[in-house]
This record gives sequence, structure tokens and C-alpha cells, in this order.
Amino acid sequence: MTGFSMPTPLQILNSVFGFPAFRGQQAEVIEHVVAGGDALVLMPTGAGKSLCYQVPALCRDGVAVVVSPLIALMQNQVEALNQLGVRAAALNSARSLDEVRVIERRMRAGELDLVYVAPERLVLPGFLALLDECRIALFAIDEAHCVSQWGHDFRPEYLQLALLHERFPHVPRIALTATADGPTRRDIAERLNLGDGRHFVAGFDRPNIRYRIAAKNNAREQLLRFLAAEHGGPGAESGIVYCLSRAKVEETASWLAGKGYTALAYHAGLDQPVRAANQERFLREDGIVMVATIAFGMGIDKPDVRFVAHLDLPKSLEAYYQETGRAGRDGMPADAWMAYGLEDVAKLGQFIASSPSSDAQKRIERGKLNALLGLCETARCRRQVLLEYFGETGAGPCGNCDTCLEPVASFDGTELARKALSCVYRTGESFGAGHVIDVLLGKDNDKVQRFGHQNLSTFGIGTELPAEQWRSVLRQLVAAGLLAIDTEGHGAFKLTEACRPVLRGEARVDLRRDPLPARGKAKASAG
Ligand code: ADP
Ligand code: ZN
Repeated sequence: MTGFSMPTPLQILNSVFGFPAFRGQQAEVIEHVVAGGDALVLMPTGAGKSLCYQVPALCRDGVAVVVSPLIALMQNQVEALNQLGVRAAALNSARSLDEVRVIERRMRAGELDLVYVAPERLVLPGFLALLDECRIALFAIDEAHCVSQWGHDFRPEYLQLALLHERFPHVPRIALTATADGPTRRDIAERLNLGDGRHFVAGFDRPNIRYRIAAKNNAREQLLRFLAAEHGGPGAESGIVYCLSRAKVEETASWLAGKGYTALAYHAGLDQPVRAANQERFLREDGIVMVATIAFGMGIDKPDVRFVAHLDLPKSLEAYYQETGRAGRDGMPADAWMAYGLEDVAKLGQFIASSPSSDAQKRIERGKLNALLGLCETARCRRQVLLEYFGETGAGPCGNCDTCLEPVASFDGTELARKALSCVYRTGESFGAGHVIDVLLGKDNDKVQRFGHQNLSTFGIGTELPAEQWRSVLRQLVAAGLLAIDTEGHGAFKLTEACRPVLRGEARVDLRRDPLPARGKAKASAG
């Protein structure tokens, strides 16, 4: 400690950051860390996690070491801090050797308040030796869910961060994340050796975000209708459109551009300068639609993103929550809109099956995909389902999601389920939705002829529903675990153990009645 007394957290907040008061649990977290305690902080995106370590960094003697997984994110934070007059720097692969030397010298001399480093650099013996020569105020571990295999963004380099505690037992550590369900939270605490640290968990609800999930029929057209009807058409509002693949990002961006939108692309396959320029424009200008893979968004702090649209399923509920959470950070109304179909489920299932992960890991990922399907197919309030997943129970229906705004009727769908399941069975569990529905509807086409399926007992037993509604039934059967999608082959349906009681007539199946896409064009994107 220096001779004069350190300023208080509130003084720092006022004089350095220019904010009048702390928000939510910030004051509590900061007090705890300034006093030398370890902490795990779970706050939704936009809640103000950065100040939870930036203020203690300035209250405590020495340099705060901030572990952050993304270079772009570090740069943004460092620039913002420098503008406030805070002595901060980032050590990463973008630095030249000379720049690194200067930063290291400033660290040793106690001339830096914060230094941001990538996890892989932090654990290098040379860097740890440097830290031995410095006075360290605290360690902050940002995006801490990266340490957990339960999290949606596991990074093996994070595992080594446990050594911080062994090597610097007296330096407080604060781990921060926006997304962690119960198991992930415990996993983070365990892996980072945060044993006695306090957990600060803030509410996950983002009441200004309206959640909607539509059945996909022509996703791009659905998106266009949504943008035109609710976001003022081209140039009016900023938003993000997430797609699964780079190719689809490019296609969608140029398609939107052709419709008059200022649409930019962002994915890991683009050159760094292009990515940086697009990100910069999105942050600076109004009315830009960023079409992106999940490579875009971590740490993006743009308050007036009015919509986040998903043209493909995200990987999990955490990913969905984090991605949609980039909308409406200013607290004004914003939309989380998604179109999803069975092909998405098949595709993600295939990703999981063909990934090099262990079987245990694959089970976790399949479980996460199923939880996401549960959200997509629920007849309940979407927000309730989402919050319950994060351990927040007890909230009533929100009144600001599609199922609240246009309640979905459920009905006894046992007979329909049995027809669909028997048809999957009779066709040899070898076909996807298109063919199964053709057989249910009695379509006497080439493929049906080729397999002789016009002779099956299930041929034409489903004429009471149009194809679109059979798709809905099949999606719901998958979400309910009564049907599986074969991920080894080409997305054929397989029966599961769970469907036997239904086929035997011993179990009842409730289905949601999806709004018909044909019923009123403007409404087609709802439901
Ligand atoms: P997170 O990391 O949790 O997503 P940030 O730390 O980026 O959130 O903060 C989100 C925004 O809220 C930033 O623009 C930040 O300056 C602002 N903010 C945070 N805390 C306060 C506060 N106490 N008063 C006013 N603005 C705040
Ligand atoms: Zn609701």
C-alpha cells in the first residue's frame, strides 16, 4: 500500500468512469473483491460485469491481470479504459516483441492498472515468472464458462488457470460469465479452485426482449417479412442475423443487400481487416444488419441492437440466451426471433455425432440440444422455460413472448402420433420428414413407387392434416424424445424406446396446435 489512503469504489466509479451509482450487485461484488475475496459472478450480458473487476483494479495496489479469450474484446476494453485515463494494456499475439517488452517493463515498474492477456499466454512459464516480479492486484477471469465442458464454449487453455490459485494464493480471483446453469456453475468453481469464493448470481431475465420462435418454411422470406413489418425495413434499425455456416452467412448477407438492406457479413473465414472493418461499421453506424456466425458477438457492446434473428438453431439454450442477449442492452424493446425446422435438428445432431468428442461429451451435447428443442416446441411461456433452465423458477407467464401473446392450444395428439410413428416404422426407419409425410398423405410419386410404399398399411392414413402440420407433429415427436433423427446416415427418423407405450396405446401424447402458416400472411412468422 502507498502512504495515502486508496479511493473508495464509489469515488472511482464517479471520478474515473463518470457513473453516479452502482447497478445491481456491482457494489457487493466489488467490496468483496477489494477486501481480497474470491468471487464467481454470474450476470447477464449488459449487466455491467467489467466494472466488477475494473473498479477493484483501481482500488487495490498493483496490476490487475485480466484473462480474456478474444483479442478483439481485449482491444475494445483497453481502448475504452485508456480514454478514461486508466493505464491499461493488452498482451496478445497482435503485439510486436518491442511492444511486449514495454508492457512488461511497465508491469514490473507498477505503471499499469490493468493488463489483459490471453489464457494461453498467462500460463507460460516466462509470463508466470514475470508475474512473480510484479505486485498483482487481482486476477479476473472473463468468460469463465470457457473452463467448463458443460459450458457452450469450452477452451482447454482455461483449465490451466487453476494454477493461479496454487501459485498466487493471496491474490483474489474473480471469475465472470453471462451464461452458466447450475452444473456449469459448480464446474467452474471446481475447476478454477474457487472453493470458498462467493457466488454472485444476478437475475437472468431480460424483460425488454420479446422471444419468438417460428416454424421454418422459407426462412429468408420469413426474416424479410419480420424485418419489414417490425423493424421499419431497410436502414431503419440495427440487428444481428445468426446463421450456422459461413456460406449461408455470405448468401444471406448478399440476399439482404439485394433487398436494400445494409447487410454485412462476419465469420471466421473472412480476413481479419474485413472482419474488423465490418464490426466497426456495425458499432458506429445505424441501421446495419450484421449477418454472422457465432464468431461474432462476444464482448460486442452496442446498446441499440433492436433484433437478433436466428436462421438456424443455436447449439444450446445457453448459446441462445447469450446470442439473443445482445439485443436491447439499452433496455428498450427488442426482438429475439428464430426460425427453426427439423433439418436444423438433424444437422446439429450430425455435428455432435461426427465430432471428435468423447461419448460422455456427446451425451452432454445431445442433452443440451434436447433442452433447446424443448424451448422450441413448448406450449408454455418461452421466458419461463428459459429462466427455469438457468435455475430461476417461480416467475409467472411473461406476456412478452409468442406463446404468451398468442397462446398455443394443446390437444390430445395420441392418434396422430401413432400414425406418424407407425409410418416411420413401416417405411423401415430409413427416411426423413419429406418421404414419411408423402406416405402419410398417400402421394403416389416416384420415390413411393420405387420403394413400393403405396402398398403399406400406413399409405394415405394421414390425409386429415396438411404436410405443414405433419412437419409440426414430427418436430414435436422429436422434441418429446419419441422419435430420434439418425445422425449416422442422412437424417432418417428412428423409433426410440420411449415411443413403445404410445404405439401400444398405453400412453397419451399432447401436441401443440401450431398456427397455420397460410392463415393470414402477416402473422406467418409467429408461432
Ligand atoms: P457485461 O460485461 O456484463 O456484458 P459491460 O461490463 O460491458 O456488461 O457493461 C454494459 C454497459 O453498461 C456498458 O456500457 C457499461 O459502461 C454500462 N454500465 C455498467 N455499470 C454501470 C453503472 N453502474 N452505471 C452506468 N452504466 C454502467
Ligand atoms: Zn411469455
